[in-house]
Amino acid sequence: MLAMQRKDQDPAPVPFMDLAAVHAPLQERIEERIRGIASLSSFVMGPDVERFEARFAEYCGVEFAVGCNSGTSAIHMALSALDIGPGDEVITVSHTFVGTVWGVLYCGATPVFVDVDAATMTMDVTQLEERISARTRAIVPVHLYGQAVDMDPLMSIARKHGLAVVEDAAQAHGLRYKGRPIGSIGDIGCFSFYPGKNLGAWGEAGATVTSDRDLAARMRRLRDHGQPQRYHHDELGFNYRMDSIQAAVLDVKLDYLDDWNRQRQVLADRYRQRLGGAGVGLPESSTRAEHVYHLFVIRHALRDRIRQELDQRAIQTGLHYPVPVHRQKVLTRYDCRTGLLSNTDSVARECLSLPLYPGMTVECQERVCESLLAAMDHLGP
Ligand SMILES: *Cc1c(COP(=O)(O)O)cnc(C)c1O
Repeated sequence: MLAMQRKDQDPAPVPFMDLAAVHAPLQERIEERIRGIASLSSFVMGPDVERFEARFAEYCGVEFAVGCNSGTSAIHMALSALDIGPGDEVITVSHTFVGTVWGVLYCGATPVFVDVDAATMTMDVTQLEERISARTRAIVPVHLYGQAVDMDPLMSIARKHGLAVVEDAAQAHGLRYKGRPIGSIGDIGCFSFYPGKNLGAWGEAGATVTSDRDLAARMRRLRDHGQPQRYHHDELGFNYRMDSIQAAVLDVKLDYLDDWNRQRQVLADRYRQRLGGAGVGLPESSTRAEHVYHLFVIRHALRDRIRQELDQRAIQTGLHYPVPVHRQKVLTRYDCRTGLLSNTDSVARECLSLPLYPGMTVECQERVCESLLAAMDHLGP
């Protein structure tokens, strides 16, 4: 509606994300690979999946990658391979995409939520130990927005209590923590390749990474109907296999991931410079870990009004995430433990994601900055 009222000379809206801009330079290479798959008629698993798995494992600094059909499946596969089931507790955060928690619920286990740190909006590792009980089996840290959870203290708590660690790296492809690739630090790392992620397919896809041979073998069986050998089913399996076309797209795009992440960092730095005096909370530029800016999330108590002002100026924004998982209706039907999650609740009210994607022009970004500064002026002190 707003668009229709706009005058002809108004600049085009700034999209939240522009995948066409990301894909333009590699469109030909991708289409060539897809034509190859079509001519072979080999659409599920096969050599393209194996090739991508090998390259992605190497990229993540691990022995094995197991491709699958989504990030949610990856988390479910990882927790299943660790034999997590009814009666077990898994500690994670409530400020995340719900897919993190689906994996826990699919296993019949109980999610236990720990609050997030106010500055980074990721798991507050200092509160972790008090959430551990005799039933706790695993911790699922979420590297939200592209920044690393503080993994050193987390891993030492996990080892001390004999807990498995499954990293949700769905927003953190290519991120490093103290020089180590994210996903390689815990027992298993889980990735989503949903199109909008830092590394995205042309459809649904995901993967787990690990250096544990037995866990990798177990996950390979689980994703393929629980069969170690065709038509021999030793355990309850799933159809979580990866499409060949998705693997081929990801194989081409993997070459560009580091460059795209650098572009994201440059854009984030520019936002920080331009918006330093705007009176909104900006993401910390952490020295502890790099940040690959899957999302650039600002904070303000009047978030909804700012969002509306930006919308009127044709700037698209996002909310990641407006309702914490522990407050979702579906969770009332499941057993879960939540303490007081005050930072989680306030982040959900205050977070606002600004447009940021590889290939975003300086001009586009400048329009976002000017619009945000004008919006803040308009709201008054
Ligand atoms: C995207 C995402 C998932 C789920 O991935 P899908 O591929 O959409 O199933 C899980 N956790 C986080 C943090 C995500 O951003």
